[in-house]
Amino acid sequence: MTQQVQRADFDRVMVPNYAPAAFVPVRGQGSRVWDQQGKEYVDFAGGIAVNSLGHAHPALVAALTEQAGKLWHVSNSLTNEPALRLASKLVETTFAEKVFFCNSGGEANEAAFKLARRYAIDKFGPDKVEIIAFNNAFHGRTFFTVSVGGQSKYSDGFGPKPGGITHLPFNDLDALAKQISDKTCAVVMEPLQGEGGITPATQAFIEGARALCDKHNALLVFDEVQSGNGRTGTLYAYQSFGVVPDILTTAKGLGGGFPIGAMLTTADIASHLAVGTHGSTYGGNPLGCAVAEAALGIISQPAVLAAVQDKHNRFKQRLNAINAQYQCFSEIRGMGLLIGAALVPALAGKAKDFMNAGAKEGVMVLQAGPDVIRFAPSLVIPDADIDEGLNRFERAVAAVVAK
Ligand SMILES: *Cc1c(COP(=O)(O)O)cnc(C)c1O
Repeated sequence: MTQQVQRADFDRVMVPNYAPAAFVPVRGQGSRVWDQQGKEYVDFAGGIAVNSLGHAHPALVAALTEQAGKLWHVSNSLTNEPALRLASKLVETTFAEKVFFCNSGGEANEAAFKLARRYAIDKFGPDKVEIIAFNNAFHGRTFFTVSVGGQSKYSDGFGPKPGGITHLPFNDLDALAKQISDKTCAVVMEPLQGEGGITPATQAFIEGARALCDKHNALLVFDEVQSGNGRTGTLYAYQSFGVVPDILTTAKGLGGGFPIGAMLTTADIASHLAVGTHGSTYGGNPLGCAVAEAALGIISQPAVLAAVQDKHNRFKQRLNAINAQYQCFSEIRGMGLLIGAALVPALAGKAKDFMNAGAKEGVMVLQAGPDVIRFAPSLVIPDADIDEGLNRFERAVAAVVAK
């Protein structure tokens, strides 16, 4: 018999680094989720921009179960067919010539930052190690990636940090021009900052950063862990900006809910990670790659990507209408299906209240910091689910504003 468990058990047996919601989901289908009590939710959270095709998508279930009956894991002392097919697909659809697989966004960035350092040291000598990153960025929770991320609340309190990292204000090209030098090995940015508050790079900033990197032989690294895999309406966000990075990292939506990460780069840069310089036991395992291959096959279809923009407009129109009624948002921003509704000063710090009120009304939303409500639903969410979810969200807004 299966042991009965409930939310209270979290506090009993789990490390307290998370504060999960009061309900425990047990089943999902498309953009709907059901909890232990059978209550139904519209899912605008998407497992934090991970469930790119919703829950239990038939193509992903088929890919996973078919691969599960064949081969799960072989390690990187062997290669495997799903990994080779997925890497080929990524090379065909992006600037990349080479791919490294891992299991998460943090690992993809760890690989990217190590590669940027190795490349610069090999080519230009031991002093070229400075990494420039931006305030409010988020790049993962390993000690290197959390140090490159620009949020001290995540990186302080663990003793000495990896050095050689500088943080600048995001979208401030003058500050970047002043700081970058021939000692800079990489400039690292999210083209659309996710955790930091759904803040897109400006076109001038992203183009200017590219030019400055070229001038100083620094690599431009785009962290597309959250903005990638169709999230912004192009396969990767760099394609919307028309600015090509030297290294791109991704994860989250790539596996549609199965853990997988990837680092994409050129053949020249990749050649600096020679045999033995970096690795991952599970990286590129057949299960993850088979699911990601199926997910990418759907997400990369032009009709699917075009629909992301239509759904963005549908969200925005309704959120504007809600705002006209309740004057709760100072700005509604983002790209594709990564949308942020920034709260007005009178509601500052209350994003979590909106999440909780949403759950009560039967809709799951996210926050991006204390002042921004974030929407990151399935890329193929039906319009009817958007409308129903926003009906419920409007009731949640009414409840929070009335308090
Ligand atoms: C979520 C996220 C990460 C970290 O990914 P994990 O899979 O949690 O390690 C890194 N960068 C960005 C931009 C993210 O949104």
